[in-house]
Amino acid sequence: TNFPDIASIRKDFPILNEVIGGKQLVYFDNAATTQKPRIVLDALSGYYEHYNANIHRGIHHLAEKATGAFEDTRRRMQKFINAPLSEEVIFTYGTTDSINLVAQSYGRKFLKEGDEIIISTMEHHSNIVPWQMLCEEKGCVLRVIPINDEGELLMDEYEKMLSGKTKIVSVVHASNALGTINPVSDIIKKAHKVGAKVLLDGAQASSHLFLDVQALDVDFYALSLHKIYGPTGMGILYGKKELLDAMPPYRGGGEMIKEVTFEKTTYNELPYKFEAGTPNIADVVAAKYALDYVDTLGKDNIAKYESELLKYATDAVREIPGLKIIGQAKDKVSVLSFVIEGMHHQDIAVILDNQGIAVRTGHHCTQPLMSRLGILGTTRASFAVYNTIEEIDSLIKGLHKAKKMLG
Ligand code: PMP
Repeated sequence: TNFPDIASIRKDFPILNEVIGGKQLVYFDNAATTQKPRIVLDALSGYYEHYNANIHRGIHHLAEKATGAFEDTRRRMQKFINAPLSEEVIFTYGTTDSINLVAQSYGRKFLKEGDEIIISTMEHHSNIVPWQMLCEEKGCVLRVIPINDEGELLMDEYEKMLSGKTKIVSVVHASNALGTINPVSDIIKKAHKVGAKVLLDGAQASSHLFLDVQALDVDFYALSLHKIYGPTGMGILYGKKELLDAMPPYRGGGEMIKEVTFEKTTYNELPYKFEAGTPNIADVVAAKYALDYVDTLGKDNIAKYESELLKYATDAVREIPGLKIIGQAKDKVSVLSFVIEGMHHQDIAVILDNQGIAVRTGHHCTQPLMSRLGILGTTRASFAVYNTIEEIDSLIKGLHKAKKMLG
């Protein structure tokens, strides 16, 4: 395909010109973090060069401009996920921070001993550990939805787990290690039937899939901008207003208060109640441009192009003897994980790196998933909108070379 014009998209990403050991960079580590287009980089330096100021408190020109840009991004995020209200968008340091916020604030206030939290086998550590910490503190029970060998959730088992004891269901929308897109709408409906709240980890889904928190009727949604062509160290938590209103602050400090005396402090309203301290202003400001970039290309165009890349790569790696694809769900984002018989993923990565090809290897922060699958880790190539068929051909060539050297 020639959607819309990959050569011109590539020109938007300065880093793609990097040469690694004499070889043109081939960047296939997009599930870890995507590269940033020029407009995002310009927005970052533009902020620091022209209107760097602390927000919300100042009444001078720069402070007002910075505050305006910061709040513009909130409204832009609201539109990106189709949230009903902009104050339902809380700026955080990313998905990990968003999940911890829910566990520590909602979890601490509303969960008690014996209550159950359901996660799944394919969760990232950031959607496991915060719940384990909560369980340890409150005496709650963590239950885990099993998967089949293709890397799909066993929905029958999930249904059997649900009961009046279930208080939170927290699952990944699309898996970073396998690519699996989970049937989240169904998961949410079933959880709501027993009165449980649902959090979706959207770290991977957000750059590939349309997000509509109202259509999903999801209670909480967490994502990171650095996976959507935006800056590192910032993300959002979406939460339904009535839930966020009922939740206590997560961190104390400036900005999150209405009035402070030594006797008693009253808290600010949403969203500021959850945004203590000086936030990551520059990155929040620049994030808007990443979302604009994605929407200008069109998420459906991106998804269609990426699934063509995934299909091409999947068919090509199948030709490599001894290679096994890890994660063969029917519905996948553009993540291709695999193992090759007799070869350690670390060695594969070193040989590919010598060709300038960046892939990710290891457990992908999903150690329990790796043990379920009986492997130590995988080699993972994950595709973004600027990747090309020619780059996939280089990867395949690199894998054949690795096979020859190590096989
Ligand atoms: N969940 C998933 C599925 C992820 O892929 C990641 C990032 N690898 C995270 C959570 C954590 O995101 P962050 O490190 O940006 O907080």
